[in-house]
Amino acid sequence: MLKTINCGEIRSTNVSQIISVAGWVHRRRDHGNLIFIDLRDRSGIVQIVFTPEISHSDNEIAESLRNEWVIQVKGKVLSRDDQAINPELSTGEIEIFADEITVLNESFTPPFYVNEESDVDENLRLKFRYVDLRREGMKNALIIRHKVVKYIRDFLDSEDFIEIETPILIKSTPEGARDHVVPSRLYPGTFYALPQSPQQLKQLLMVGGIEKYFQIARCFRDEDSRSDRQPEFTQLDLEMSFVSQEDVLRLTEKLFTQMITEILPEKNIPSPFPRITHKEAMDSYGIDRPDLRFGMKMHDLSDTFKTLDFKVFQNVISSDGIIKGFSVPQAFEFTRKEIDDLTEFVKSRGASGLISIGIDPNAKSISDFEMDQIKSNILRFLDKDHIESTLNITDSSPGDLVFIIAGDVDSTNASLAALRHLMGEKMNLIAPNDLALAFVTDFPLFDWDKEEKKWKASHHAFCLPKDGYTEFLDSDPGKVIAQSYDLICNGLEMASGSIRVHHRDLQEKIFEVLGYSIEDVSERFSQLLDALEYGAPPHGGIAPGIDRLVMVLLGKDSIRDVIAFPKTQSQMDPLFGAPSAIEDDQLRELNIALINED
Ligand code: ASP
Repeated sequence: MLKTINCGEIRSTNVSQIISVAGWVHRRRDHGNLIFIDLRDRSGIVQIVFTPEISHSDNEIAESLRNEWVIQVKGKVLSRDDQAINPELSTGEIEIFADEITVLNESFTPPFYVNEESDVDENLRLKFRYVDLRREGMKNALIIRHKVVKYIRDFLDSEDFIEIETPILIKSTPEGARDHVVPSRLYPGTFYALPQSPQQLKQLLMVGGIEKYFQIARCFRDEDSRSDRQPEFTQLDLEMSFVSQEDVLRLTEKLFTQMITEILPEKNIPSPFPRITHKEAMDSYGIDRPDLRFGMKMHDLSDTFKTLDFKVFQNVISSDGIIKGFSVPQAFEFTRKEIDDLTEFVKSRGASGLISIGIDPNAKSISDFEMDQIKSNILRFLDKDHIESTLNITDSSPGDLVFIIAGDVDSTNASLAALRHLMGEKMNLIAPNDLALAFVTDFPLFDWDKEEKKWKASHHAFCLPKDGYTEFLDSDPGKVIAQSYDLICNGLEMASGSIRVHHRDLQEKIFEVLGYSIEDVSERFSQLLDALEYGAPPHGGIAPGIDRLVMVLLGKDSIRDVIAFPKTQSQMDPLFGAPSAIEDDQLRELNIALINED
């Protein structure tokens, strides 16, 4: 190799050795007759010194070096003088006295600094991803990602799983998004769909007797981007036969606990992972993936306010709405302006307004206070009893501020959940190393789609109803609870899974509730339905998202920061310029004509 040792690995124990290093010029400092180069390779940075003793031509080369040029240096490792030791650098006790330098390649001036983690326009970063990947943050993310995937593979191997690849060119495998499709040349007018997940394939593997399968699987979903979504993303997809929900949750908890303890021991994770039902999550946090790094549970105040002579509340109650609130500790001092801003915030999320009731920190207690120790934007409607009962139900203490929203259940939950999240940040309740992992269980099998006026699968169509709930499939599908579960962390969904239906008639019944016609079912799902009739074992699984996991582990805000070559938020690849038009010949071969809308 062009190097005998990695830059970042040189230590005092190497002093006096003649070594050869190669890498990128991270920084150059010219001190008259001394030139210092920080040389960087993947392992880190080492300081190289060019002194006048080096040959004239080598010195000239050293003078000409610019950031990001690729060089090889041979020289001797020496200890630094005490005052020159750099404790920030793992190689800070030594430096290399250059003997010989070779320029392996020059570089244009990079479009942004590699030697700083400064904010750079994302399009520029993605267009020059090969430069961006040299930056510390990206490099570390890819290393952690590698460690996570390697840990998963080793762990599941030791648990007797086998890794199996499933096809990318397949047929629609619905997970609730649009498909990405690929036209077939040999069968003009027909298309493959890229898998939204290997869901049906892994179920077929269970019918195939594999018993424990996993895959680091690429999934493709054509849906609107968000900061934690990509049109293609990676899941750890796993499936097991002869298991109950408990088995899958235990395995998942063991994997996550051991992996995080090994890879990022500084993180705090709960043991065991708390479990809450979907209903508890919605009631207490207004969302099915609550951030459990802080409290501020929500409480239903409809009963309390039933008797209050306040029209807004009365209207909400009579139209089957809800009045819900939570207490923010020590927020009594919020200014009028702050509360106005929060009101705008919740309005932008569907609430019609925000009510606040605060109790002065000097009040004796929540049941022993003066009315002038209460501040509220509906003070003139309130009396002591209603205030006391609100403070009581919301577990408030003197100094706290209760936020209340009244409206229909969905928008009240959504806006209050967003407000709670914002309060967690604003009140500094988030400890950076906390990973509040938890399981949410007992999801409903179906959600009512108000716009399309039909039942939609809340996870997907293959989840097994809990014992005793199948009878509601006909009478009241909204009541059916599934054996399905999510793993959540810090307000994000990290994984979802379920125990699956393994009998044809039940699976057909679920398709029927979802409104599929018999033709549709046989066209789209016959492979699975037929397989269920050939000795399908009971089975279930889960699929944690790898990108999101690494993002959360590293505390990043965007999954694009943990993917080597992601698409932009608008689903473009600025580096390759994808998507792009294809040649007319190619179109003709595929028997495709473009509709020109102009
Ligand atoms: N296929 C499901 C998904 O992608 C996960 C599962 O049920 O195992 O969300």
